[in-house]
Amino acid sequence: MEKCKMYIGGNWEDSGSGKTFTTLNPATGEEIFSVPCADQADVDRAVKAARAALPVWSRMKQSERSKALYKIADAIRENAEEMAMLEVREHGTPYNDAIGVVYGAADKFEYAAGTAPTLMGRHVPVGDGALSYLQREPVGVVGLITPWNLPTIMNAVKLAPALAVGNTCVLKPASINSRIGLKMAEIISQAGLPPGTVNVVTGPGGSVGSALASHPDVDMIGFTGSSETGKQILADAAKTVKKCVMELGGNNPAIIMEDADVDASLKVLGWRQFNNSGQHCSAPGRYYVHERIYDEFLNKYVAYAKTVTVGDPADKKTVMGPLVSQEHLEKVQWYIEKGIEEGARLLYGGVRPGNLEKGFFLMPTIICDASHHMTIAKEEVFGPVAVIIRYSDKDDITALANDSPYGLCAHVWTQNLPKGMKLINDLHVGAVFINCQMLTNEQLWGTSIKESGLGKEGGMEGMAEFTDLKLVCVNYDI
Ligand code: NDP
Repeated sequence: MEKCKMYIGGNWEDSGSGKTFTTLNPATGEEIFSVPCADQADVDRAVKAARAALPVWSRMKQSERSKALYKIADAIRENAEEMAMLEVREHGTPYNDAIGVVYGAADKFEYAAGTAPTLMGRHVPVGDGALSYLQREPVGVVGLITPWNLPTIMNAVKLAPALAVGNTCVLKPASINSRIGLKMAEIISQAGLPPGTVNVVTGPGGSVGSALASHPDVDMIGFTGSSETGKQILADAAKTVKKCVMELGGNNPAIIMEDADVDASLKVLGWRQFNNSGQHCSAPGRYYVHERIYDEFLNKYVAYAKTVTVGDPADKKTVMGPLVSQEHLEKVQWYIEKGIEEGARLLYGGVRPGNLEKGFFLMPTIICDASHHMTIAKEEVFGPVAVIIRYSDKDDITALANDSPYGLCAHVWTQNLPKGMKLINDLHVGAVFINCQMLTNEQLWGTSIKESGLGKEGGMEGMAEFTDLKLVCVNYDI
């Protein structure tokens, strides 16, 4: 088993206590990496290193910072095969997706390097004899706490903008795929950033993540994960009034209207549902399918699910790999059983594929005849499970879609575009996808609606979250 070290102040270190934990290959259940288990003292050292690096990194010319980020993007591309295989081995991402994820992470650094120079201060007119402007500054030392569901991308989407505008960072990756976070540190260590600019500490969220969130010398937390953890982090961060940007849970409605192009909808939604084993925050959590096309939708969804090859993520023919852990697999299975117990029908899947004895695998699963009030429709399943509810003209579809503690995004499928667009204002969500699902570097993600988050990630708006605006007023008429 490979032994890994943490990255603190430009050095590779064990945890101060010498404690370690292991990460697994979800396709086999085997232990693959031994990772340092940090504690409060390690977090303190990482934060101290980041604080010491801040004056150097934040006052560097923007062009120099951007050059360093371009180097990181190049290093990711040069190491793409190795990074993709880590995604395959430690997360279970099928190879063809993993390689795309790695190049996507490189793009995040390139985008941040290119756009940060345009995120400048603003002149504010105040009349003769005086000058007033808004100066954009980095927030300072930023704690980044990331989830396991898209590890390479999740680390990149936070590190890139935070660094580009001059913050120094302490990253705590999800424990389950800690090695992937440490690989990012290895890549960054090749780009010549001042020591301490990026630090990566590994260990349990409840102790290491919480130590970061409550640390008095951390200025901001950038977090992606569940709403429950988000609330705990907000409580910790409140002790020192930290800025928090939170990308939290969702249970996204997909409204399939009577005039939807069912084949086109399944190409997009089916892929989103089963790709990465449905462990996507933007995947549909509940489908409302109009009664006039309900049977067609079900039949075609089953046909689609049958085309999804489940298996070894290292095999290039595999479309869907395992779920991330035994614990998560059991949670998803519990939701399926609960759905059936509450009266929904298991239409397809719901079991481990017969040919796969080891690993945390589940067949693509379709649950139909669900109702809006069932547990499986109300809570976030976060797995390869399509939960399908029939609706009719008598239902208030926007009221059903909005009836959730979450408001991350919504999907609408219709060939009557004006009718679909009428929903935009009524859907209380951070993103509406009509007849598509697209996310590019330029677009932002995230929302401050209900329990799905606070602030934005990605795009210019996401980068701006990592800055503060200082008001400067100068009287030159004295
Ligand atoms: P968790 O909330 O369980 O964990 C996320 C991170 O927080 C991990 O690094 C975890 O550490 C850490 N953590 C756990 N407890 C604490 C704590 N008390 N204080 C500080 N840090 C803590 O989420 P998952 O990893 O299970 O990810 C899945 C969730 O993420 C889903 O709810 C999904 O919707 C959401 N998500 C949201 C996205 C969005 O853009 N809105 C995008 C992707 C995912 P450890 O790993 O050690 O437990």
